[in-house]
Amino acid sequence: MNRAYNFNAGPSALPFSVLERAQQELLDFQHTGMSVMELSHRSKEYDAVHNNAKQLLKELMNIPDTYDILFLQGGASLQFSMVPMNLLANDQIGNYVLTGAWSEKALKEAKKVGKTHVAASSKEANYTYIPSVHDIQLSEHAAYLHITSNNTIFGTQWHEFPNLPVDLIADMSSDILSREINVEQFALIYAGAQKNLGPSGVTVVIIRNDLLERIPENLPTMLDYRTHSTSNSLYNTPPTFAIYMLSLVLEWVKEQGGVKAIEKRNIEKASVIYDAIDESDGFYSPHAEKGSRSFMNVTFTLPSDEITKKFLAEAKERGFVGLAGHRSVGGCRASIYNAVPYEACEALAQFMKEFRKQFA
Ligand SMILES: *Cc1c(COP(=O)(O)O)cnc(C)c1O
Repeated sequence: MNRAYNFNAGPSALPFSVLERAQQELLDFQHTGMSVMELSHRSKEYDAVHNNAKQLLKELMNIPDTYDILFLQGGASLQFSMVPMNLLANDQIGNYVLTGAWSEKALKEAKKVGKTHVAASSKEANYTYIPSVHDIQLSEHAAYLHITSNNTIFGTQWHEFPNLPVDLIADMSSDILSREINVEQFALIYAGAQKNLGPSGVTVVIIRNDLLERIPENLPTMLDYRTHSTSNSLYNTPPTFAIYMLSLVLEWVKEQGGVKAIEKRNIEKASVIYDAIDESDGFYSPHAEKGSRSFMNVTFTLPSDEITKKFLAEAKERGFVGLAGHRSVGGCRASIYNAVPYEACEALAQFMKEFRKQFA
C-alpha cells in the first residue's frame, strides 16, 4: 500500500490509526454483529458513541457547562443561514468581517434574512491579511459579530480575536482543534467536520446556552437550534457514521497529548514550509502577509503559470496530492490540517527546495 502525501483542502487527510480502527471495527462493532452504520440511532451502543464524541470535544476544547454542543447536517454552509435565522432579530444588524470567500458567503446568506453591516474587510487587497481588531467598526444594534477564524482559500488566520461588547460568532471549519482557544470569547462556534474533525457529513455547533432564548418562535423545526439542543442532536437520524469517525479522531487528538500538543506540531509543520518559501529569494511568493499567515493552509505562487504547472506535475509524480491553489488565488496551496504528519510537510519543503534549483 502506498499512502499519498495528502494536502487536500477538504475533505482532507485523516489519521492513519483512525482509519485502521474504523476498518477493524467495520464488520462487527463492539460485538453487535453489525457496523456502526447499521445500528439504530436509538440503540445504547450508538448512544455511547454519540455522547463520547460530545464529551471528548468538551474536554479537549475546555467547553464550559454554559455551552451546548450540537451535531448537525448541511455543512458549515447551512450555518451561514442558520446563524442569522436564529440570532438576527428584525431590529438588529448582523456584523461581518470579510476575510475571504467563506465570509462573503456567510454575509450573502445573512442579507437574505435581515440587515447586515461589514465591520471590516481586506477584500481590497484580495484578502492577503486579517484586519486589525482595532479597525473593526461595529454598527449600532449589532446582533453579533461574525468572523472566519481561518481562511481556507486565501491562507490567512486570525491570531488575536476581537474583544468587543458584542457576541462573537466564528466559522472555525478549517482550524477548529488546531490550536488552543478560549471558548468563552465566543458566543457560537461552528465547523464542518471534513477538515480537522473527521469525514464530511457532520457539522459541529458550540452555542452558549443563553442564545437559545433569543431564537424567534416560527422557524422551521430543523433550522431551529433549540430543536437540536433539547433532543441531544437526536431529533431525527443524525449522521451516525460521521459522528463515530469524529469520536475516533477526538480520541486520537487526546492520545497525541491534546490540543496543546497538536498546536505545537502544527506550528512546526507550517514553519518548515514557510521557511522554504522565505528562503527561496522570491521564487515562492506567499499570498498572505506575514502576521496573518495561516498554520493550516499555506498559499504561495511561483514565477509563472507555466512553472506552476510544472511544479504541480512533478509534485504529483512524487506522491504529493492536492497542492493546486484555489482559482481565486492561483498558484499553490498546501493544506496541513491536524492529521497531516510532520514528515509530509518536511518532504514537501525538501521538494520545493529541489524544484527551485532547476531554475537557479
Ligand atoms: C470548507 C469551509 C466551509 C464550507 O463547508 P461545507 O461543510 O462544505 O459547507 C465554510 N467555511 C470555511 C472556513 C471552510 O473552510
